[in-house]
Amino acid sequence: MDKKTLQDVELKGKKVIMRVDFNVPVKEGVIKDDTRIKGALPSIKYVIDNGGSLILMSHMGRPDEKGITSDTTMKIVADYLSKMLGKEITFVADCAEADAAVASMKEGDIVMLENTRYHKEEQAKCKQKDGESDEDFKARKAALKDQQKVLAQKLASYGDIYCNDAFGTAHRAHASTAVITKYIGTSVAGFLMEKEIAFLGNAVEKPVRPFVAILGGAKVSDKLAVVNNLLTKVNTLIIGGGMAYTFLKAMGHNVGNSLCEDDQLTYAKEMIEKAKSLNVDFLLPVDNIAADKFDAEANTQIVGQDIPEGWMGLDIGPKTVELYANAIKNAKTVVWNGPMGCFEMEKFNKGTFGVCAAVAEVKGNGGISIIGGGDSVAAVNKSGLAEKMSHISTGGGASLEFLEGKDLPGVVALSDK
Ligand code: AMP
Repeated sequence: MDKKTLQDVELKGKKVIMRVDFNVPVKEGVIKDDTRIKGALPSIKYVIDNGGSLILMSHMGRPDEKGITSDTTMKIVADYLSKMLGKEITFVADCAEADAAVASMKEGDIVMLENTRYHKEEQAKCKQKDGESDEDFKARKAALKDQQKVLAQKLASYGDIYCNDAFGTAHRAHASTAVITKYIGTSVAGFLMEKEIAFLGNAVEKPVRPFVAILGGAKVSDKLAVVNNLLTKVNTLIIGGGMAYTFLKAMGHNVGNSLCEDDQLTYAKEMIEKAKSLNVDFLLPVDNIAADKFDAEANTQIVGQDIPEGWMGLDIGPKTVELYANAIKNAKTVVWNGPMGCFEMEKFNKGTFGVCAAVAEVKGNGGISIIGGGDSVAAVNKSGLAEKMSHISTGGGASLEFLEGKDLPGVVALSDK
């Protein structure tokens, strides 16, 4: 990687302000899944073990909408992490408390700041209001950006070094993820960030071939740029999930009541043509599980590429699973983002789990398998095959933007080696 990492800096006696992704699911004050907390442990321990002290910050949930509640305060995570590390963590609820706690920090101390999105200037989101003139909107936006700089400066004042280990928010240019780097000497990647970039970056830019990408999920419109970019990189592009029906309709098939975006038909045709001209195998379902309603108890039938009137495709069929599995097993690099069907319902989970089983064989065959976040991660975890994957990304949105070929602001802002 061409960006500095924690291993490139002297940490002894230094205060490190670290952006982590502790956006964990919380219900009634209880953390329901600590994967993200565990993910940040290597960087946290490395700083402490090497004589640094640590100021941790993250967002969690949406406190910008409701204010801080018992489910969006970072105090929950501070207590949880403290138990995990067997070490006291000072939680600070506001800037005054943070100023005092940071000023009295000693080597090895950890301070945890309150939810970064408690401050609206963290994201500095700004939409034009009804009736607001362009001029007023522009002025309001500029003022908010100025406030964002003030917040970033404040956060930067707490540390000697900035470390970003929050891959999940690296696609956002927020005060704590990117703007802060303008006001602090050195900005480095944490270990989790480094690992994510190494896996995704190598897969896309220097793939060992054959390179197969699998895209699924509900909508084509969410993955337009991913399809377009990956077509120039892969040997085979596999499409499943709701998005497959827009492509099937573009090829002249009937899709019945399946999810279909008619405004994307021209784009879908273009992508099929682009695949042909680039010699990319573009695989679409050859059979489907059709249902008479969107329901776990629906009547179902296996159909070909045409979905009968009044029915909807909710999963890929068994022949398609076989076709996809063969392409996947022979690959040396596989990237998967998005389920093949409505895998949350048992009647429609065979496609996703069938593909999951094939992806799980890739590592054993000497290849690399990367799961690109979101629902595919949930499916992999549910299948119990997580251990068999080379890399499971922690950032759904960020990994998608990476696959689109976009630069991530949180990565770009780090110091070059
Ligand atoms: P996404 O967030 O775009 O990755 O979409 C994931 C969602 O797409 C999951 O909740 C799936 O249930 C849903 N999905 C997958 N296949 C279909 C389908 N054929 N029809 C409707 N929804 C689907």
